[in-house]
Amino acid sequence: MSDQERTELNQLGEFALIETLTGTFGMENPSTKRAVGDDAAVIQYEEGKQTVISTDMLVEGVHFDMVYTPLKHLGYKAVMVNLSDIYAMNACPKQITVSIAVSNRFSYQALEELYTGIRLACETYGVDLIGGDTTSSLSGLVISITAVGEANAEEIVYRSGAKPGDKIFVSGDLGGAYVGLTVLEREKEVYMAAPGAQPELKDHQYIVGRLLKPEARRDVYELLGEMGIKPSSMIDISDGLSSELMHICKHSEVGVIIDEEKVPISEQTYDQALDFSIDPINCALNGGEDYELLFTVSPEQAEQLKGSPFVTEIGKVTAEGEGIKINTKGGNTHELQAQGWNHMDDEA
Ligand code: ADP
Ligand code: MG
Repeated sequence: MSDQERTELNQLGEFALIETLTGTFGMENPSTKRAVGDDAAVIQYEEGKQTVISTDMLVEGVHFDMVYTPLKHLGYKAVMVNLSDIYAMNACPKQITVSIAVSNRFSYQALEELYTGIRLACETYGVDLIGGDTTSSLSGLVISITAVGEANAEEIVYRSGAKPGDKIFVSGDLGGAYVGLTVLEREKEVYMAAPGAQPELKDHQYIVGRLLKPEARRDVYELLGEMGIKPSSMIDISDGLSSELMHICKHSEVGVIIDEEKVPISEQTYDQALDFSIDPINCALNGGEDYELLFTVSPEQAEQLKGSPFVTEIGKVTAEGEGIKINTKGGNTHELQAQGWNHMDDEA
């Protein structure tokens, strides 16, 4: 790019930005098995096990608001979003590093709270904290965590292996974190208008919990392992179902079709979305931060998974060029807009 040219970041969007910045890097080392482009990178120094590595950063004011985010939850969540990427590779997380940039607005006790959450996550998921970096920031809090995991080379699942005819599954239920965020934003406005007003969160515990205390789906990773099922492709749902389906389609060179009525949405998410006059399916498709797993399996493996309480079949993989489609409850078929959740737009 010449000095005169200036391209605004929001013209590109997050995914194109990453592709443009990193696409021209060559790989020098045979030990680099997979670089940019999946939920985690994969490296291997010796025969046998491979190592997967993933980094995610949470920035105050962009990813969390201190008004309604307890620091203990934040620490826990910062670990979860990284472990989720490791499980999405069908690998087992083993270590994390934690880097923080922090302003003098935060006390030692506040950071201790943050680390209480990080410790709880490490203990619960059997992960070791092995390092990091600490620096000052002029404004808010930034947390960047890197998670490292391991798997046998042949176990690792990429975004790229889906085949036409495969069935599409998701774990848990979708859209809850987005509706939970909307509830918290509403309560924040009420509070700002009348400080002292008590937030009305009693009836929203599930969805607020989906945003503030997500769990990475180790149980699903373990279930698949126990059943001897290796998905043909997998990704975690951090930006919304349509965005993740788009990634699978792009990397696997396939299309997909899903059924609206099969997309799992909890009752609380559903009711609260309607209360906000939002179509619940839009929360599942375009909300973010559910940290569920989206994966594809052969029809035979799909039979094996029938009746599992953890996962739901939502559609099937079609040929490349068929696009990303949804059969609506009304009996129509629409092309999905893969909007995802673009923090860059939020900031613009
Ligand atoms: P996820 O949502 O699964 O965490 P992202 O959308 O953040 O994945 O990233 C997609 C891919 O791009 C990953 O392989 C990630 O490592 C890579 N990536 C993201 N940002 C950068 C960057 N600034 N420089 C190099 N690679 C990046
Ligand atoms: Mg991911």
